Amino acid sequence: MKKCTRCKQNLPLNSFLKTSKAPNGQSKCNTCCLEIKKKYRRQLANGDVMSISAIKVRYSTLKNRHGWRKGNDNPFPISLEEFATIFNNVTHCPYCGIPFEGRWFGLQVDHIIPIALGGTCSLDNLVVCCEFCNLAKRDKPLEQYLRWLDYIKTSNSV
Ligand SMILES: [Zn+2]
Ligand SMILES: [Zn+2]
Repeated sequence: MKKCTRCKQNLPLNSFLKTSKAPNGQSKCNTCCLEIKKKYRRQLANGDVMSISAIKVRYSTLKNRHGWRKGNDNPFPISLEEFATIFNNVTHCPYCGIPFEGRWFGLQVDHIIPIALGGTCSLDNLVVCCEFCNLAKRDKPLEQYLRWLDYIKTSNSV
């Protein structure tokens, strides 16, 4: 018997699919995995989440941009699964506050501390933001960019 990490039920081992990544069976039972898939398809149809393929594209872009290649001694610091979690529950741009409202195609992944200033591709330095902020922030430190945003907002409202 094994306990499912989602529904917390004790179930026979054959209720947990064995995969190449989880040779002893996945941590969630087959029923839960199916429910997660169904929920994801529903969210995808509603435009509530970004598709896995769109996340994969952004992940490879990031890896390539930061010089990671197959056979490199230093593996890229985060896995695709970890990378995908930064897209969970994102509703607004954390910098300018614009609501995303399902416009996933325009979303960018930004380094809070720019690489040029010593930032890394670690999970806590990555954030999903709007295209405008990604382009405008570039290599600016966070405080400087927020000050600039404030300045733009106030000068536009006068
Ligand atoms: Zn379960
Ligand atoms: Zn923004």
